[in-house]
Amino acid sequence: MSAKPASIAKVNGPACRPEVAQLAPYNAGLSTEAVRSRYGATTITKLGSNENPYGPAPAVATALQELVKQVALYPEADQKLKAALAARLHEPASCILLGNGSEQIIRMIAEAYINPGDRVVTVVPSFGLHIITAEAMGGKVEAVPMTPACTFDLPALMKAVSTPLKVLIFANPSNPVGCMMKADDMRALFAACPPDCLIVVDEAYYEYARFDAAYPDARTILREQERPWLVLRTFSKAYGLAGLRIGYAIGSDPAIIDSLGRIRDPFNTNIAAQLAALGALEGLEHMDHSTGRTVEAREKLRGEMEGMGLTVAPSYGNFLFFRTERPSGDIAEALLHHGVIVKPWKEAGYTHWLRVSVGLPDENARFLAALQAVLHPAPATDTVGECVK
Ligand SMILES: *Cc1c(COP(=O)(O)O)cnc(C)c1O
Repeated sequence: MSAKPASIAKVNGPACRPEVAQLAPYNAGLSTEAVRSRYGATTITKLGSNENPYGPAPAVATALQELVKQVALYPEADQKLKAALAARLHEPASCILLGNGSEQIIRMIAEAYINPGDRVVTVVPSFGLHIITAEAMGGKVEAVPMTPACTFDLPALMKAVSTPLKVLIFANPSNPVGCMMKADDMRALFAACPPDCLIVVDEAYYEYARFDAAYPDARTILREQERPWLVLRTFSKAYGLAGLRIGYAIGSDPAIIDSLGRIRDPFNTNIAAQLAALGALEGLEHMDHSTGRTVEAREKLRGEMEGMGLTVAPSYGNFLFFRTERPSGDIAEALLHHGVIVKPWKEAGYTHWLRVSVGLPDENARFLAALQAVLHPAPATDTVGECVK
């Protein structure tokens, strides 16, 4: 990662592996409680983590009523959830793996596949864990920058995969940029990869991107080419279950799922997450409704931000990536004083960019008002106060 890693404090004890000591810390952002106590804001507008402001389907609450009866036993509903996903995705259950969040699956991929020195190709700006997990295993990550127009740089990516590599991993649509790789580009990029390279497409925002007819079906394209692949999805975003930690992978082959299964923590997904995910799959109208509303609100917000003169990348996710003339950390800090949490970007080349999640209409309005106040503070008006009345 590009941000300078804060060094790890020395302890009287064993040194951690050098790969770990050199890692950049994950940039997780501030909690609602931290902003409340540190900035004294009463209304907190939390738009830093791409969560779903509509929450989970009502069926999730019903499913969780069973929870207390089951918590004494090790979780057993994983087979049920895999079967439900298999039916919905038209895949065999043997090609599905559950994770304690898809984050855990990203880590499992690195642990199962990356030897020290192995090349991994991804993009920048990126979802940090695509880089950190590979580096933790001693992988050498090449992160290909997006184009100045905030799209995937296909020629540069094709060049990067022409040197032997172990894993190609990227999110489609991209987090944080929001751009989408279309079918033809995907086809060309995969065809340029060596046949034994593992291709990982992280579709965390699939449910938002699917509204666009051009959003490609990565699984079909990967199958055409008989590639080894994994597609990652999550219940954290569209299904509103970020707090319970549950995601999944679909694999090209049961053997790949089996390889990840060997390093899986036994019972890696908990019973609450399994029951909630089963409930969420019963409540698909709610998910359709919340993702649809969010996509509409995203376009409205994008228009309003562009109206303020900002550069905003086109997005197929539930967030917008935008640039201001000031360092992103300063803008994010100023917004915190208004109780608004967004994510300032820190990777080299993108330090003037921020990512804002699309919230409920009133949250988006509070964000816009705060951003307006931060970017264009009203001139000092010492004398006006008394005259106006
Ligand atoms: C949010 C996100 C995830 C993490 O999902 P969890 O299932 O909550 O771990 C994975 N990949 C990308 C690109 C994301 O934005």
